[in-house]
Amino acid sequence: MPLKPDHKTVMPHQAADERAHTFDEVNTGYTEARAQFEASRCLQCQEAVCEGGCPVRVPIKAFLRCVAEGRFQEAFDVVKKANPLPAICGRVCPQETQCEKLCHMAARFEPVGIGHLERFVSDWERAHRLPRPTAPLRPVRPRVAIVGSGPSGLTAAGELARLGYRVTIFEALHEPGGVLRYGIPEFRLPKAILDDEIAQLQASGVEIVCNVVIGKTVPLDQLLNTMGYHAVFIGTGAGLPRFLGIPGENLNGVYSANEFLTRINLMKAYQFPESHTPLKVGSRVAVVGAGNTAMDAARSALRMGAHEVRIVYRRSEAEMSARVEEYAHAKEEGIIFQWLTNPIRVVGNDDGWVAGLECQPQRLGEPDESGRARPIPTDDPPVLIPIDTMVIAIGTRPNRLLTKGGDLQTTSWGGLIVNEDTGETSQPGVFAGGDAVTGAATVILAAGAGLRAASAIHARLSAAPGESNGGESSHARG
Ligand SMILES: Cc1cc2nc3c(=O)[nH]c(=O)nc-3n(C[C@H](O)[C@H](O)[C@H](O)COP(=O)(O)OP(=O)(O)OC[C@H]3O[C@@H](n4cnc5c(N)ncnc54)[C@H](O)[C@@H]3O)c2cc1C
Repeated sequence: MPLKPDHKTVMPHQAADERAHTFDEVNTGYTEARAQFEASRCLQCQEAVCEGGCPVRVPIKAFLRCVAEGRFQEAFDVVKKANPLPAICGRVCPQETQCEKLCHMAARFEPVGIGHLERFVSDWERAHRLPRPTAPLRPVRPRVAIVGSGPSGLTAAGELARLGYRVTIFEALHEPGGVLRYGIPEFRLPKAILDDEIAQLQASGVEIVCNVVIGKTVPLDQLLNTMGYHAVFIGTGAGLPRFLGIPGENLNGVYSANEFLTRINLMKAYQFPESHTPLKVGSRVAVVGAGNTAMDAARSALRMGAHEVRIVYRRSEAEMSARVEEYAHAKEEGIIFQWLTNPIRVVGNDDGWVAGLECQPQRLGEPDESGRARPIPTDDPPVLIPIDTMVIAIGTRPNRLLTKGGDLQTTSWGGLIVNEDTGETSQPGVFAGGDAVTGAATVILAAGAGLRAASAIHARLSAAPGESNGGESSHARG
């Protein structure tokens, strides 16, 4: 692959026909030489407009200069200071709508591969990391509880531990990581990357307790009133799937994307029967929706052995929300895209299993409240797509388990209402961020919310009388 100054340096990757049968990571990462070349494409503009596109304001210009000059550790340190999850964000952030969209190179050529370089410095640091001192830091500030271990919870926990708080994460599932664990597949985000982030967090003193559903196993108020936590951060995400509300949706073989991906990623259905969870994937699969979740479900179905996988979407290519790279990879792997096609009925066979999907062709009208062109049914007759498995990936919303009947104010769709600057909810001492507040969004927005709430919790607790630190260093050596 020759290097061209006008083009973003190609990310090395597995060939489409090989990778479509394995869960191994598709992208294999830049070499040092490739990274230096790509970083040297940065114009080092006087005003780094790209940084305005980053929700956590990574100092992109400085980090790219370090990479171009081969100072990789320094580059990593610059990124990590602003973004606690660079190895993850370098892999999954929608850079094309954020930093890279604003890159001046993009005006005439292709933008600098900022995401690929963020991934490079993180992978470089992991490969070259020296052993840490063995005596852990002993936190001396009050206890804080984090509910949920997705990117918002992990980030809030990491920042609070760094400030010297005694932090416990409570997670409902049996493994931590949130969507990073149960949603995003191994071929995009290897679990080893997530495990490394979590191990570092634990090494910094954060305790993680799994299999605890706050609001059910332990009431929220109990954390503050009897368990000795001085503040709580809620990062419970938006894990409740939306359904189409059409006849036949309850047939066997119809899954929500959430269940489909959880069975594969968290429960390792691809290793059944060595793992305990099966997943029946037929030969012809339809995935409804066209966001990242839909791409992940479609590409996972292919890897689970399906022969014909199609995305069925009621709008067109221009309105879909998936990352550009995910869409490109899905097309290369042979996923079929059926645009302007709206499911109206799931057809079953005599045994109660899905056998087809009846859809009404659509055309586009004026933009709706989402700002995207509205799909309108045409007069054409419905089409029947023969399928044996269907996956619904049309969005999710927050679960009301934690908020039902309590003091926490929510929106009509169940999102927690918070102070935008601090993340504080209507219940004093309880903060929230990530998808639980915004609805389904992105990893970097969740991480940014975790950081903001952590500093607000610190401001609140360090101003409180009886704060144990007394102005001394916030850590002691254990
Ligand atoms: C399949 C898929 C692919 C995606 N791809 C991308 C992508 O490429 N790029 C991108 O930027 N974003 C992507 N996203 C979105 C992104 O993953 C989310 O925006 C992000 O994970 C939200 O983080 P969070 O911390 O708010 O919540 P989550 O990651 O949802 O984590 C919430 C955690 O809280 C736990 N929990 C819930 N309720 C309780 C309770 N009562 N007690 C204890 N624990 C609880 C849950 O089990 C979960 O582990 C994707 C999402 C999905 C589903």
